[in-house]
Amino acid sequence: MKAAVVPAQHSKWEIREVPRPEPGPSQVLIKIHASGICYTDVHQTEGALPGTFPRILGHEPVGEIVAIGAGVTTRKVGDRVGVPWLQASCGRCEWCKRNKPMFCAQPIGTSGVAQGGHAEYMLSYADATMLLPEGLSYEQAAPIFCAGYTVWSGLRWADPRPGERVAVVGIGGLGHLAVQYAKAAGFETIAVSRSPDKEKLIRQLGADEVVADGQGLARVGGADVILGTANSTEAMADTIQGLRPDGRFVVMGFDPKPLQVSLGELIMRRIRILGSIQNGPEYLYEALDFAAKGKVKVIAETYRLDEIHRAYERVEKGQVRFRAVVLN
Ligand SMILES: [Zn+2]
Ligand SMILES: [Zn+2]
Repeated sequence: MKAAVVPAQHSKWEIREVPRPEPGPSQVLIKIHASGICYTDVHQTEGALPGTFPRILGHEPVGEIVAIGAGVTTRKVGDRVGVPWLQASCGRCEWCKRNKPMFCAQPIGTSGVAQGGHAEYMLSYADATMLLPEGLSYEQAAPIFCAGYTVWSGLRWADPRPGERVAVVGIGGLGHLAVQYAKAAGFETIAVSRSPDKEKLIRQLGADEVVADGQGLARVGGADVILGTANSTEAMADTIQGLRPDGRFVVMGFDPKPLQVSLGELIMRRIRILGSIQNGPEYLYEALDFAAKGKVKVIAETYRLDEIHRAYERVEKGQVRFRAVVLN
């Protein structure tokens, strides 16, 4: 099968012919139809996240099951599925026993320990696959498995109450979905974006207000929940001045730079800073359901697998406005 292989840290991706894997016990083989490229792919390629090389990245894979391994009873050939980052965990540590496998120290991650989705085929543990809702296209489904899942998890984690205002900082791959999820869930939604050329489109996504920074956010009355989906610590930290008392700032965008926060602001406005990951399959189910109902639409530029270098280059340089998806 063809696959995009990253030969070594910092290196260029190469399309190579590699052996098509066979499903082992509890596994399924998926013919990949769409695979999204996330900015995390850049962090992985640059070695900022753990993982050995050579390896195949891609943690937004969706496709059709074409073979099942021994003992698989809940999936069958022909099922349309996707696979999130977390495929399996040790099952024995405190966090696995607490049913919080996202905190397991020995996770099997798609594109981490396990082969990723930038290939013609991919293995997954059957239990990790999520059945796609009927009528949702592969192209629309793929980015929900990281970007959509992440932002919906973050919004749910902030536990917004009726009538609260939600702001989204960084209107890119994650943020353009976060705006739509917040609006679809019924919240007044404010986008914080430094790209004035995106304003019209951001309003079309459902934003009630578009502001440039934290001061602008404060001027329009602030937000009770800020979803930090930018790849810049500074851009995220700047918006905290627009957080209302008892507000929650949810960090989802990754940047190696530490976050500096004024302790005075934390204390006097009783602000909470929350980290959030993909907080469990319940949120993935909900995220896909919004997409299937047409309430959330991914804006993607699409590529063939043999054009993936071009897609990666554009993601790396920040030229992809929302999401790049490889279609097979
Ligand atoms: Zn991702
Ligand atoms: Zn564990």
